[in-house]
Amino acid sequence: MPENPDGRTIFEKIIDGDIPAEVVYQDELVFAFRDISPQAPVHVLIVPKRVIPRVGEAVESDRETLGQLLLAAGKVAGQLGVNSTDEGFRLTINHGRNGGETVPHLHVHLLAGRALGWPPG
Ligand code: AMP
Repeated sequence: MPENPDGRTIFEKIIDGDIPAEVVYQDELVFAFRDISPQAPVHVLIVPKRVIPRVGEAVESDRETLGQLLLAAGKVAGQLGVNSTDEGFRLTINHGRNGGETVPHLHVHLLAGRALGWPPG
């Protein structure tokens, strides 16, 4: 069964308000909400409102949206009190199987609230 039988990704359903989520930020281009399965005390997903399936498939016309995703990530980190260098956060984008992507709608993971290991698993 396809992941999006009605043509919308699960994140579009969240943006449309058809699936509940704890929204932490939105503007004209992007939307951010808490991850349903948090991997750190702070785990937020920042997604474009207009679907880009994955970062490696973004095109020139996505430039403004791609920039806005990072600007929004910084704003959300500030809003949640983790953007000082003492505190800190990590942004992650998973692309494809080896990257660990499970939802075909570009999203930036914002992880914070604990020391994060490096290299990643
Ligand atoms: P990725 O594996 O990089 O594609 O990340 C997909 C993320 O979406 C995972 O961290 C999931 O926990 C998260 N996720 C899936 N469904 C939902 C949902 N309904 N609300 C919030 N986060 C979700």
